[in-house]
Amino acid sequence: MRPSPIRELFPMTQRPGMISFAGGLPDPAIFPVEEFAQCGSALRDQGKTALQYGASEGFRPLIDELIKRMEPLLARPFRPEELVIGSGSQQVMDMLARVLIDPGDVVIVEAPTYPGALHTFRNSGACFAPVPCDEDGMLVDALPEVVQRCKRQTGRLPKLIYSIVNFSNPAGVCLSLPRRRRLAELALSHGIPVLEDDPYGELRYSGAAIPALFSLADSGIIFASSFSKILAPGVRVAWAIGDPSLIRKMVVAKQGMDLCTSMVTQVLVAEYCRRGFLETHLGRIRSHYAGKAEAMARAFRKYLPTGSIGGADPEGGFFFWRKLAHASSRVLFERAVEEGVAFLPGSAFFPAPDEVVGEGVDGDPFARFCFTFASPSEIEEGARRLARALAGHD
Ligand code: PMP
Repeated sequence: MRPSPIRELFPMTQRPGMISFAGGLPDPAIFPVEEFAQCGSALRDQGKTALQYGASEGFRPLIDELIKRMEPLLARPFRPEELVIGSGSQQVMDMLARVLIDPGDVVIVEAPTYPGALHTFRNSGACFAPVPCDEDGMLVDALPEVVQRCKRQTGRLPKLIYSIVNFSNPAGVCLSLPRRRRLAELALSHGIPVLEDDPYGELRYSGAAIPALFSLADSGIIFASSFSKILAPGVRVAWAIGDPSLIRKMVVAKQGMDLCTSMVTQVLVAEYCRRGFLETHLGRIRSHYAGKAEAMARAFRKYLPTGSIGGADPEGGFFFWRKLAHASSRVLFERAVEEGVAFLPGSAFFPAPDEVVGEGVDGDPFARFCFTFASPSEIEEGARRLARALAGHD
């Protein structure tokens, strides 16, 4: 068991007076507490359903709401057997890992990628083949060589490709349309399934949406998303869409984990969607977070020495991902915490050298800054403190 590098740093990022760009958290100030409380009345009508164990695949009215939302986004009609509800997309990944991954199997991941995914796949005994990214996401053209190398070194094909296609955590970039097409094609021709993890796709603040990978392929893609970023992470409700036989196996894996996701929350979330609250809330958080992204871009330009930190501003999601020109992010993190501002050092987002097939990537020059949690004035002050930490660093 390797502890999550992010959770290990949390105590330091939560000292009094600390401005935190570290956790990837939505802004609690904008949680729709009142609307959610109104949905509580649904418990009066559906209390008997809510207060007993439900089906492991999920609460049927919630599945129906999700089908309504997903059909236009994924450009296809769905049957309920193609969906499963999970306790967060973290559990969705775990279900899939338990179905697909045997010890020693290789998962192809973007470098950088979401540490929680590495954690889950690692728990199932996976090792990793990292594929570098640029501002258009994963360098998909490198995949054939990565697959061949994996075959040479382990004697087997990679079991899964994991991609955060929209506003990735941590890099904030989207996989471009040509690369999505190529990825769908390559995955199909090699017979390797892709997990399209998309919790940030609906949080676009500028630019045009790109079709989902799922909508570009006839088979082989498992799409996952979550209410954590668009509603609140504490609800622990997420979903996956895929081939019904695979979904069935995931449901069986889930039975061994928690029998079913809390029915009380599923009733509340279904009601929240049914009343149209989610659409209104999405509009509200998009403009709220767009303002914060702008505040961080402005504050970084104003306070950080030119050339000290490089990288494009994201068009959506939660994160700025920056390359430090002269600094180690680990060392800068310690100085920044002394100055009263926290972020996450880049190495958390890459697999460790001893679990990599092929070449690893050194994460130390990189850093992730979450712009959604802090207030605009904290963002400004945090950038000032970061500038002091950078000055001390050189
Ligand atoms: N995937 C990605 C890319 C994430 O960033 C996160 C949360 N940080 C998750 C999955 C897990 O989210 P959930 O709260 O739905 O388990």
